[in-house]
Amino acid sequence: MLSENKEVIKRVRYLFSGVVQGVGFRPFIYRQAILSKLSGFVQNRPDGVLAEVEGALSAIDSFLSGVRNNLPPLAHVTDISARDIAPKQDVIFRIIPSDIRGDGDVHIAPDMAVCPECLQELFDPADRRYRYPFINCTNCGPRLTIIQAIPYDRVNTSMACFPLCPLCQAEYENPADRRFHAEPNACPVCGPQLQLLDQQGNSAEGVKPVAAAVNLLKAGKILAIKGLGGFHLSVDAGSDEAIEKLRSRKFREEKPLAIMVKDLACAQKLARISAEEEKLLTSPQRPIVLLKKNNSNKIISAQVAPGVPHLGVMLPYTPLHHLLFENNFDALVMTSANQVDEPICIGNREAVSRLKGIADYFLIHNRDILVRCDDSIVMVAAKKQRILRRSRGFVPRPLELAESFPGVLALGPQLKATQCILKGKLAFLSPHIGDMETPQARDFFHESLSLMKKITETDPSVIACDYHPAYYSTKVAAELQDLRIVRVQHHHAHIVSCMAENHISGDVIGLAMDGTGFGLDGNAWGGEFLVASETAFKRLGHLQYFVLPGGQKAIHEPWRIAASLLKSAYGHSWRSIAGKLGIVSDQSHYELMDRIIENKINSPLTSGLGRLFDGVAALMGLRRRVSFEGQAAMELEGQVNETSGSCFPFEIKRDDEGCCILDMLAAIRDIVDGILKGTSKSELSFSFHLTVARAFAAMAKEISRINGINRVALSGGCFQNRILLEKSVAELEKAGFTVYCHTQVPANDGGVALGQAVVAGSIMKKKK
Ligand code: ZN
Ligand code: ZN
Ligand code: FE
Repeated sequence: MLSENKEVIKRVRYLFSGVVQGVGFRPFIYRQAILSKLSGFVQNRPDGVLAEVEGALSAIDSFLSGVRNNLPPLAHVTDISARDIAPKQDVIFRIIPSDIRGDGDVHIAPDMAVCPECLQELFDPADRRYRYPFINCTNCGPRLTIIQAIPYDRVNTSMACFPLCPLCQAEYENPADRRFHAEPNACPVCGPQLQLLDQQGNSAEGVKPVAAAVNLLKAGKILAIKGLGGFHLSVDAGSDEAIEKLRSRKFREEKPLAIMVKDLACAQKLARISAEEEKLLTSPQRPIVLLKKNNSNKIISAQVAPGVPHLGVMLPYTPLHHLLFENNFDALVMTSANQVDEPICIGNREAVSRLKGIADYFLIHNRDILVRCDDSIVMVAAKKQRILRRSRGFVPRPLELAESFPGVLALGPQLKATQCILKGKLAFLSPHIGDMETPQARDFFHESLSLMKKITETDPSVIACDYHPAYYSTKVAAELQDLRIVRVQHHHAHIVSCMAENHISGDVIGLAMDGTGFGLDGNAWGGEFLVASETAFKRLGHLQYFVLPGGQKAIHEPWRIAASLLKSAYGHSWRSIAGKLGIVSDQSHYELMDRIIENKINSPLTSGLGRLFDGVAALMGLRRRVSFEGQAAMELEGQVNETSGSCFPFEIKRDDEGCCILDMLAAIRDIVDGILKGTSKSELSFSFHLTVARAFAAMAKEISRINGINRVALSGGCFQNRILLEKSVAELEKAGFTVYCHTQVPANDGGVALGQAVVAGSIMKKKK
């Protein structure tokens, strides 16, 4: 067939899959088709968005490149399939009703920060949504957190109870409008409204909620503010008093609190911000970004993040945040609203009852949050993004894997838990669930499980879980009858999660460095040098075991670890050295500790590198006790100011089975000498970081001599330590290794579910 200018007319059928619904994809295709003067149609289908376009070949080419280069901000196309079909001689291009047949393969979009266009309207007195806190469009606003069921249509969201007014309805139906099929579309006439409640949950009548909330915050009150994925507890970040009150009511004496700042300029006064960090701060995901603190700022109280080197900062992301900040504050504390170890609150009544005694007032609204989704946390290290908590803004966007897997559900570890579902070439990680230590957290675990099955539309028959018999998730797995269970060792899962996100397979040298995980020999592993593939691993080396006096107790009292290290390093004379260092004030403790360590009373052996960091911090007098796990190690990292220094000695030995043992006792003795000589803490902690990184490279070389492997994968919570990560990469690369690290998935236990899933999926594939 020929057109007027004798060009061949073709018709192509495209299927776009990925995050393509609820993100303005159809009107976008419509506009691109009109621009390229094509006829045909576009349609939502369960497996994606289908478009048939007809016109000259050159026009179709320009259409496709237009689509590829101008995707709507929230869209994420994982695949485009194209097929030539016979022309139908359509005259116009249309958006036609959804086809609901077939299997589902459409992904739900993550929640996104309010977009620039909506923000402009929010502060435009002439706009009908002027100062309306729920303004949104197809490019921004809530998604995952308002979903009840799929497909993602208004009836299946918590907006179902708000019938659209005629004006909103017209926008919703107009393909040329920015709000065409924006499911959460709303306005002051038809949409959700704010309300301010007192401590008892009674509505404060006759007040303007935003203005009243601002005044209360200024008066030093603690407000619970309903956000996108849950409530925040908020106080003025400039007020020592308000922060102290919040800390004492939340039983959170020292843990750093995240803050939200007015704008980028204000963030720049609080910290030095690199180009990469700026990109993350202003991204539509709006995560909390860990920034290197500038302690001389006068904007926020020193009580926000005492002792630690970093400050968790985010920018406003809901219209309500922007209204609260307008001409009022530089920075507000915005910490997840929960009691210690419990999941974040989402319901209005739930908040009033669970936050009793913490919040003075509640700024709530009647758009229900249906999915708990904490703020995500990221940092930049070795010039790349590192996700420490992957939640709001990122989930449920899947990770693309290098190969396809059978359906697997991984139940995750015990702490910082997430779950993971594999479906074809995609891995879906759940929102951050947290520590599985309370009944509330366990409820959330099951809540999340049914959510994940729903949004991925799968019910996997293979379950992956940890090796630890006492983990909650392991027990859940054991109760799932008729399903195939694959138990995956914790550190193996860490390494495979790093391999999976880097699309590598086959054997690597895996350095899994964390606090403690259940080891196959019954000891608490955590400084592991593995040779690992997706299906198996061998432990070829580890940090030399030391006694963890009192087990769990030692995690809260790192001076116990210091005592244990001293006893290993000096034998009987350790007590006099401990006395000189003053690792505890009461000398009589040393006798008791000596007996505990000697007889291993309730004291497991550990090879955990995180514990070694805790112990060194305690030796240096930084921390005898901590109020949260990792605090001492964080402060040790925070001591480092220099960029060069000397390395301490260490030794690599072999045990009876030929396993390489990394002995750091010589380094411990040098640190002790340094402390007694008065060497600065900064210099000592720099040298310690450097020593650990050099020891990693030396161990990897030793292992590589045995098997010739030259790829190293780094994983485990210790690699959240920016200095350790950067030094390790540098030292390993200097030694000739290709080094793989995490960027998309947390190095900490938040990434373990992905590794569990890929191990189980790979084992299943091999069996076929
Ligand atoms: Zn918008
Ligand atoms: Zn309306
Ligand atoms: Fe771990």
